[in-house]
Amino acid sequence: MQEPQIIAMIVADACRYDSMYPHIKKWMPYLYNNSTHFLQARSPGCWTLPSHASMFSGLLPHDHGATTQTRTVPDSFPTLAGLLKEKGYYSVMITANVATTDVFGLNRGFDEMHKIWRESPNNGDEWFYGIVGFLWRPRFRNRVFKSFIDRKLSEDVEGLRVFFRSYGKELLKMARKRVSDLLNQGKKIFLYINTYDTHFPYHTNEQFRLKSKGFKNKIGEFLTLMDIINNRHLTVENYRADPGWMQFMKLRQRQAVRRFSIHVDKFARWLRKRVPESTIIYCSDHGEQFGEENGLYHFSNVTEGGNRVPLIWSRAGQNHKITIEYPVSLRNIYNSILCEAGIDNRKNWHLTESPEKSLSVIEAYWYNAHGKTKEKYKRNQFAFVDEKKKYVFRNGSWFIVDIDKDDSITELGTAGVVNPIEESSLSSERKKELELEFNKFLQFEKEIPLS
Ligand SMILES: [Zn+2]
Repeated sequence: MQEPQIIAMIVADACRYDSMYPHIKKWMPYLYNNSTHFLQARSPGCWTLPSHASMFSGLLPHDHGATTQTRTVPDSFPTLAGLLKEKGYYSVMITANVATTDVFGLNRGFDEMHKIWRESPNNGDEWFYGIVGFLWRPRFRNRVFKSFIDRKLSEDVEGLRVFFRSYGKELLKMARKRVSDLLNQGKKIFLYINTYDTHFPYHTNEQFRLKSKGFKNKIGEFLTLMDIINNRHLTVENYRADPGWMQFMKLRQRQAVRRFSIHVDKFARWLRKRVPESTIIYCSDHGEQFGEENGLYHFSNVTEGGNRVPLIWSRAGQNHKITIEYPVSLRNIYNSILCEAGIDNRKNWHLTESPEKSLSVIEAYWYNAHGKTKEKYKRNQFAFVDEKKKYVFRNGSWFIVDIDKDDSITELGTAGVVNPIEESSLSSERKKELELEFNKFLQFEKEIPLS
């Protein structure tokens, strides 16, 4: 296949697999019929930073080191955008997510970066953001968002706009404009887009809105949203996620994904019309737990809701549908894009051609909620998917999960007694690779302080 003139990678942040998949045919007829669909893709990390660092470096979290603990991307390895630049691609990031920007260093290698909340015109609602900015002083902020991830993330008061309004349409509008301008200059383009519409608080409308009926239910919905962003289960003794509200949150996210995906499909059609040799990748970076294993949000999980992700890949000129069931990892987006761009083709293989080369490893490191995380959640985890099972290693023991069932985790036994890597259906070469990654994980987690 020829090298694409445009490589567009669109990330629906925090979108669960099941928030997109049952409806994709209706929402995205173009991409549905002209793409390769990965039905068993997993994110290597459980929140924006580690997962993106993996997609942009091809490394697992224990190798790139960007975790909840470090909160930074080391500059010791080349990035996807940087390598594409060497091959003549001009790279553009258009994002609604503060975490993908210079805050953590994920913009390394990009030629330009657009923070949509700064560049998109306001709707005459400046007064509202003035009040929000005023209230967003540290004392108030710490009271409302008790465990909100990082000072760095909340320093950009303007960035708070993404919690109150949808930018999905604006992102794609700006993308069309930048693509048109750059094409006129004869450039090859790597375009990365991140929408926050599908992320908490899940924008079901242009402006943030509570969707339940009646005052009492609206209060319940609001409190559930607060519990989610504060990862309440981590810090509150005997917290039980309410199944009814968790279903409701899934619905909120599904509506948000629908809104954005319809625009993505139009954008894909437009792009293909302009440049038939364009590659379009539409995926998520991780999901949400919404009650799975009693978890609410993301940041410290290896659950199915939190890590099984949609991954749709339409290669330059592809005009038919392919389905791949083999469990793969998002981190291999890196080598697949490099492969398509014709960079070092012996080393870089493509997910659509050799999915069995992928290791669906997931890692999570414990999340420190301002010193209040309960002991039982101070755990680092390593997981992989093999056929219909997922194997999870935490606190010295292996657990097994039936991937078709929510909440089906059972203990297998202590390490050494049982070795699911050895007993997996993988080839001996893949087993060796997995064993090596597992040992590197064990080594890496020793460096993570438990308080
Ligand atoms: Zn994310």
